[in-house]
Formats: sequence, C-alpha cells, structure tokens
Amino acid sequence: MNGNLCAELSTTHRLRKPQFVLKSKNMKEKTLRQAQGEKPDHRKLGEQLDLFSFHDVSPGAVFWHPKGMVIYKELEKLIREENEKMGYGEVSTPILVKKELWEKSGHWEKFKDNMFQFQIGNEAQGLKPMNCPEAHLIFASRIRSYQDLPLRLAEPTGRLHRKEVSGSVGGLFRLYQFTQDDAHIYCSPEQIEKEISSLLKLALKIHKMFGFKSFFRLATKPDEALGSPRLWEKAEEALKTALKKSKVKYELREKDGTFYGPKIDVNVTDSLEREWTIATVQIDFQVPERFALEYVDKDGSRKRPVVIHRAMLGSFERFIGILLEHLNGALPLWLSPEQIWIIPIASRNNKYAEKVAAECNEAGFRYIVKDENETVAKKIREGEVQKIPYLLVVGDKEEKAKKVSVRQRGKGNLGQMKFDKFLQKVKREYDERG
Ligand SMILES: [Zn+2]
Repeated sequence: MNGNLCAELSTTHRLRKPQFVLKSKNMKEKTLRQAQGEKPDHRKLGEQLDLFSFHDVSPGAVFWHPKGMVIYKELEKLIREENEKMGYGEVSTPILVKKELWEKSGHWEKFKDNMFQFQIGNEAQGLKPMNCPEAHLIFASRIRSYQDLPLRLAEPTGRLHRKEVSGSVGGLFRLYQFTQDDAHIYCSPEQIEKEISSLLKLALKIHKMFGFKSFFRLATKPDEALGSPRLWEKAEEALKTALKKSKVKYELREKDGTFYGPKIDVNVTDSLEREWTIATVQIDFQVPERFALEYVDKDGSRKRPVVIHRAMLGSFERFIGILLEHLNGALPLWLSPEQIWIIPIASRNNKYAEKVAAECNEAGFRYIVKDENETVAKKIREGEVQKIPYLLVVGDKEEKAKKVSVRQRGKGNLGQMKFDKFLQKVKREYDERG
C-alpha cells in the first residue's frame, strides 16, 4: 500500500502487527502468559459475546450481530456528539465514483491496485478507499468566504473499501470494508493552531475514557516536500504550540512527515502494553492545489485554504477489536450491549422482576429478565461469562423492601440497595460514560 496520499492511508488504518514491549519483570511474565495462549482475542470474544461473525462468502467484511451493533452505534453516537460540539457539519458521499475523481486526487496513480474497480459501460469506476476527495467536492461546490472558515465536514458513516493482499484479511484488524470517524477541516494557516488544539483535547478525552495511555508524535518536513517552506514553517510552529498548550509530551520525528504536510500521530498503549496508532491529525498543502480549492479573503483576493484530515478512533471496526482485547470483553456500562440482568430467585418474584425491568426500560437501559428455570447461581455465573455490568437478584426480601441485591462486574456483591438509588447510580455512570 502506498501511504503517501492521505492521513488515513499513511497511519490511521495502517494495520500494524501488535508490538510487544517488555517494560518490567511483570510484563515479561504477562507476555509469557500471553504467548501461552492467555491473550484476549477479539475474534473469540466476538463469538463468545455474540457480537459479530465472519463468513467465507464475504471475505474481509464483518457481519455485525444485534449486540455488536449496540457497541458500534454507541461509538458512532459519541463521535457525532463530539463533532456537533465542535461545529462539524455531517456529510454523506457516494461509495462508487468515476475514475476521473481518483485521477484528480492521485489515488488512481498511486493506489489503484488497492482499489476495487468496476467497468460500467464505457466508464471505469472505483469504490472509495477514503472520503477526502468527495469532501473536497463539497467544499468546492460553492464560493467560500473567509467567514466560512474553518469549515468542518465530518463523514462518520462513509463505508470504505480497500483491497488488502488476498489471504491477509482476518478479524477486525484487516478488512476490505470498514468505516472511519473521518473528518476534514478547511481553514486558513492562522487557524491551524486552534483547530489542532481542540483535536488534541478531543483525542485525549476519548482515549482517557477507555483507559488508554496516549502519547504523541510530531512528524516534520521531509527533504522533498510540496508547499512553500514558509507555510511548512508556520504549520509546524502551530502544531508545536498546540502540543505545548495541551501540556502533552511528544516525540519529534524530524523529516518524517509526508510530502504534503506535517502530522501528529496520537498513539495509545493498551492493557497488554501494545502500541496502536488510533488518532491522526494531518495537515495537507497538496490537496487544495489539486482540487483548486479557494476562498475569498477579507481583501477580496482568492486564497487556498489548508486542509486538515483527522480521525479520532480510526476505523470503528479496528477500534472495537482493540477495545475488546484491551478490556478482555468487559466493556464499560455505556457500551455494554446488555447492561443489567434481573434475576428473580423464585417464580413468585417474577412479577417484581418485571416491575424492576419496566423501570430500567423507562430509564433507557438495556436489560434482560432471567426468569428461565435455572438456579440463581448458574445465572450469575452466566452473567459473569457474558461480562454483564450489573446483575440484580430479587427475592422476597428485596420485593418487600423495594430493593435489589446488586452484583457489579469486577466488584462482586454490593448487597441490597433501594432500587431508586441503584437507578441513580447507573444513570450517573452511563451519563459520565464510565
Ligand atoms: Zn482525508
């Protein structure tokens, strides 16, 4: 794969093999255990938790089951909420596009072998390997003024297709079809720093939310580069200032930027001490030239904007795979497909269990009443295997006192609690995306 066309190509969707870093004796032991087969595998977890499956009839593609879609949709919701707060407009662009656009963007020349192509009548067309060129068409569809900038266009639902080497696809890490939380920002050089600062803030917030440790890498101008040296200098300075203002440590990678602009990779370390590039922020001086993008400045002159490509999670599919292994399937409450199981002790408690369920439903939680004819101990065990965040056991005592006996995943038995109090607790946890 040629990685010189866009941020997504160069890093975000780079499908790295896990890098194991031995940091201590404990880590060596941990890694040894992993080598002996204890390492969480998202494919096994996906099957155990009934999240997704793969089928030979569609290699390199995921069949999402209802429970898997809950995770997917919650992540999409998170990204949409954050995009809205930051003033993005959401767009949606076609999947099948004529060759002439890919020629204009440079993909046909450099990335053709990784594209799925079709001959439709006399027309060669290709499935989009990234969203950028079509976002640029939207930017260029109207006369833009300096007052429109920064213009932020997000396409979090754009299905992308890339032809990986046959036989190398597998699991959620190597796919032909995937979706990125992709967005493009069109701004003036003076606006770069502010935009980058808010992107770094967002990346830190999101990665912290999942318990990842983030670290940053700034890649600067290579020897052969497009764009004026002054623009490069200005952009690099803006990136450095944004990194400093965000109070994050970063590694400087001199001359490691792509030929079309400097970039910041936000890498994370997961619970298995593996390093992943998840978020990318890439400045692009080349594409405004290729697409003749311009805006009318205050003095009436026409100027080229700068394009920032960004993704915070990378591909949703790959991110879910990383997350499942990072957490060994124990997703936080807000991402859990089933959040609460209600377990009546005897069939005479079923009515009370249904009442508790109705209130869980009213409060917007995903729940199951486990009233099948099995022992409570067996249901609790099953709930633990299914990594359910909360198991509520209800019997005569609970019913009489309008209480529930709460078992929290990872914390064990919390004892009896007024049901209202329990609901308040989980609502708070859900709202904080804890
Ligand atoms: Zn892009």
